[in-house]
Amino acid sequence: MTMESHQLSIEFFPPKTAEGVEKLRSVRTQLAALQPQYFSVTFGAGGSTQQGTLDTVLEIKREGREAAPHISCIGTSRETLHGLLEQYKAAGIRRLVALRGDMPSGYGTGFANEFRYANELIEFIRAETGDWFHIEVAAYPEMHPQAKSPQDDLQNFARKVKAGADSAITQYFYNADAYFRFVDEARKAGANVPVVAGIMPITNYSQLSRFSDMCGAEIPRWIRLKLASFGDDAASIKAFGLDVVSELCEKLLAGGAPGLHFYTLNQANATLEICRRLGVSA
Ligand code: FAD
Repeated sequence: MTMESHQLSIEFFPPKTAEGVEKLRSVRTQLAALQPQYFSVTFGAGGSTQQGTLDTVLEIKREGREAAPHISCIGTSRETLHGLLEQYKAAGIRRLVALRGDMPSGYGTGFANEFRYANELIEFIRAETGDWFHIEVAAYPEMHPQAKSPQDDLQNFARKVKAGADSAITQYFYNADAYFRFVDEARKAGANVPVVAGIMPITNYSQLSRFSDMCGAEIPRWIRLKLASFGDDAASIKAFGLDVVSELCEKLLAGGAPGLHFYTLNQANATLEICRRLGVSA
């Protein structure tokens, strides 16, 4: 099974320093060799990275590559969102990843909360810009941590599709069966859009543990135990991580996943190696 007939997209966060900007340029050049459909750039809820997201997206676009900004609604006013959509339209951006977002801690309650959930943001984008943007939304095969139940979360996903989402990217996961079941159930609930699998390469155990606790992604026990057993042996963690994640990707593609979206954390090597194993030549 190869990636040739599948979608590949690659995610970055906006760098905060001049050094980070330089490094991302080099990472992007390496990853561009994989010919992804687009690069996406995250957005800090409440607008905390707004300028960084815009600058990074415009730079990618100037390089002649497709860029998809993430846009989140919690803590962001209608006026700000309207302005952002106009800027993206003017820059020829045709794809957005639309999210509710999470407020960074320490924001208190003094932020704008004109939107409560992502489906309201999608309705707003469609009302403001019609069909201009291809809208991606988030999906959670292992359930969003704040959802009341998996059924409720699935209904929410269906609501986002009904509001106008064209396709979805999942939170990362290491249980392929959770993904396949989610896609089946989403179809039965009438949410019949492509659900691209979000892939988090494993390169650093403590960082992965922290992220997974926050976003509700399960690291299966056997993977956790193995990673913990390597201690400070970074080379073994990387080698094991590459095997596990490449096999997961193969299984997902063989089982019908329409594509893969890599959470790169602005690093190139693991994504390059996993794609090489999947038969994508850089
Ligand atoms: P929603 O779809 O609004 O769902 C949020 C929660 O509310 C869920 O538990 C849902 O079940 C529940 N819910 C929804 N509607 C209702 C309703 N009407 N009544 C009751 N409950 C409801 N975060 C960022 O800050 N910036 C980013 O750039 C970013 N990029 C991401 C990219 C991807 C591909 C993914 C998967 C996540 C990303 N996130 C990002 C994280 C995301 O913002 C968080 O997971 C956030 O907590 C939920 O966003 P959402 O769009 O999925 O929210």
